[in-house]
Amino acid sequence: MAKRKLAILGCTGSIGTTTLGLVDRFRDRFSVTSLAGGRNIDRLAEQVRGFEPSIVATADEQGAERLRALVPDFAGDIVAGPEGLVRVATADADLLISALVGALGLRPTLSAIEAGTDVALANKEVLVVAGELMKRSADAAGVRVYPLDSEHNAIFQAMHGQNRDEVKRIILTASGGPFLHTSREELESVTLQQALQHPTWKMGDKITIDSSTLMNKGLEVIEAFWFFDVPLDDIDVVIHPQSIVHSMVEYIDGSVIAQLGIPDMAVPISYILGYPERLPLSHLPSLDLVQAGKLEFHAPDTDRFPCLRLAYDALRARGTASAVLNGANEVAVASFLEGKISYLDIPRILEGVLEEHPAVDRPDLSQLLDADRWSRQRATEKTRG
Ligand code: MG
Repeated sequence: MAKRKLAILGCTGSIGTTTLGLVDRFRDRFSVTSLAGGRNIDRLAEQVRGFEPSIVATADEQGAERLRALVPDFAGDIVAGPEGLVRVATADADLLISALVGALGLRPTLSAIEAGTDVALANKEVLVVAGELMKRSADAAGVRVYPLDSEHNAIFQAMHGQNRDEVKRIILTASGGPFLHTSREELESVTLQQALQHPTWKMGDKITIDSSTLMNKGLEVIEAFWFFDVPLDDIDVVIHPQSIVHSMVEYIDGSVIAQLGIPDMAVPISYILGYPERLPLSHLPSLDLVQAGKLEFHAPDTDRFPCLRLAYDALRARGTASAVLNGANEVAVASFLEGKISYLDIPRILEGVLEEHPAVDRPDLSQLLDADRWSRQRATEKTRG
């Protein structure tokens, strides 16, 4: 059997390293064509030595220089910056793992689709910013976009072998984050350290903050809309603190099919890597439901967590509104991580920027990127008060 060749955007992050861990475990099935890392050059150098890709991209030229010094015997290309990401994404691969954080992944992911490469998408902002455009491009190029995000991956699994016309509703689960039981008053003064304590998943900083504000779930609602072609009113969110039910699909006869498992990203990633076969992950523990004891479900509180409501509003407004929400959120979260704004300033800034935005209908890529830039600028101004 020919090995499946992978290109990976975001190889040094949490999704990227988990993917490479699986490649290492199944070396007879997968090989690595190209890698794009961020600023963790030491880890990138280790990956280059371990997986011998032919193209490697770093965030900037300075990183490329450091990498060249660390892997002097490397015979492939080392490239830098946004053009480097496109080189990695359009390298000769069977599947692109798109796992950058934020809108940065948009252009390279679109380039891969246009080049006819299937995509496994973890970079949810790609669909949030440009869902309509991505869908149109994927249909035109005849490529498949597979979900890596645990919830969408669960839905994808729960739809496998089913008739899509018989889907009644999608139910996305959310852990609720560290502030599930924190009052509105207390939320005013939560610290960065508290916000970074995710109860079940270990992830990067940006997505951990997004999980705590429920913005992550809002972005996932938008993502689900573009992945699964289900009307927005048929996408529900339920808080499930144990993160064992990764999401569910209800069918017209009332049957609900859920995917359950331990919270480990190796599971959804492996499902897409091996699709339609499952890979044996015998190193992972089995789900122990008796030990879990109980599974709880609550309605989300959009008064305390307005970001979820803002996501539905933005998707309903269509056009550039989701791109604006995402851009403003990236800036607001970065400012919070830098200690420049308070926790509840995040939804305040988003709401303010969305209100000011004149939405553009059926935007092309340049209009989406304009909207993204505009929202970042407005959000930045608002973080300065
Ligand atoms: Mg998720």
